[in-house]
Amino acid sequence: MLPESITTLTAALSKLPGIGPRSAERVALHIVQTDSAIVKQLADAILVAREKIQFCTTCGALTEQSPCPTCADTRRDASLVCVVERAVDILSVEKSGTYRGKFHVLGGKISPLDGVEPDDLHIAGLEQRLTTEPVKEIIIALGTDVEGDATSNYLAKRLARPGLKISRIGFGLPAGSGLEFADELTLNRALEGRREML
Ligand SMILES: [Zn+2]
Repeated sequence: MLPESITTLTAALSKLPGIGPRSAERVALHIVQTDSAIVKQLADAILVAREKIQFCTTCGALTEQSPCPTCADTRRDASLVCVVERAVDILSVEKSGTYRGKFHVLGGKISPLDGVEPDDLHIAGLEQRLTTEPVKEIIIALGTDVEGDATSNYLAKRLARPGLKISRIGFGLPAGSGLEFADELTLNRALEGRREML
């Protein structure tokens, strides 16, 4: 029987994504046998990161200051807004190396089975941006699965307005997958080969 403090730590670790009970226990056992200065560094890094990081109030990216550096960067093309599902997807699109526009994080995809309705996504914020920023094209960069399709179609209808182009990337992306699985070249092609939805 392990001491209570270890089982408590294990339980906390097992709540992290991708960490099952076994890995959690292994990490916990490693931590309690590690030099306490190193463990303190880890604990501090967790606290500091959590304290400093917030969502950009404009685009929804993870940032230490809001608006985030991308929103604040006047050299980026404000006429283009790339809509992604999660904050981490911004990194995937940036990896392509060619995109110079802005971003908007939806925070999920419409999925009635999982109880995710349009109102749960950051769509109102995007509509707001259409009134305050010189947006000429919305590039929808959601995964090519069923929810990605449904969400893209919903957005295209809801955001439609005169003078606004709405396109979707997808060409060359593996079917049913998200942006994180696409390499640089594939993403580049997907962006270049984006198709107008309306
Ligand atoms: Zn931002």
